[in-house]
Amino acid sequence: MGEECIFCKIVEGEIPAKIVYRDENVVAFEDIKPVAPVHLLIIPTQHISSIRELDESNQDVLSNLVHTANKLAKEKEIHDAGFRLNINAGPNGGQTVYHLHMHLIGGRFMTWPPG
Ligand code: AMP
Ligand code: ZN
Repeated sequence: MGEECIFCKIVEGEIPAKIVYRDENVVAFEDIKPVAPVHLLIIPTQHISSIRELDESNQDVLSNLVHTANKLAKEKEIHDAGFRLNINAGPNGGQTVYHLHMHLIGGRFMTWPPG
């Protein structure tokens, strides 16, 4: 648990967030600065600073995030049209919050490559 981690605080209910899903392993909430009509963040309840900390011993963490993303994409009715799952890692990856999170973004067409 990162004591000063804002996403740990969201998991603990210490700072508010629009939580759309929660179970023992995963919490999902609306991004405070959405870049598309649907923009959710899906995070492990356990504090892991980035995807770079995952290896064969904790690969279930990633599969839990992906499974939750698919479920929420269906709920938000963006599953059929398509969506984007994005995990930023480290400075060059554009990561700004160091608690592993997957962006689920959809509801509009997105270009490639990223800027
Ligand atoms: P990243 O650049 O991948 O680290 O993304 C961090 C994301 O967290 C950004 O899209 C922010 O808008 C979002 N964010 C930061 N603080 C909060 C918060 N308190 N509640 C919801 N989303 C947040
Ligand atoms: Zn954390």
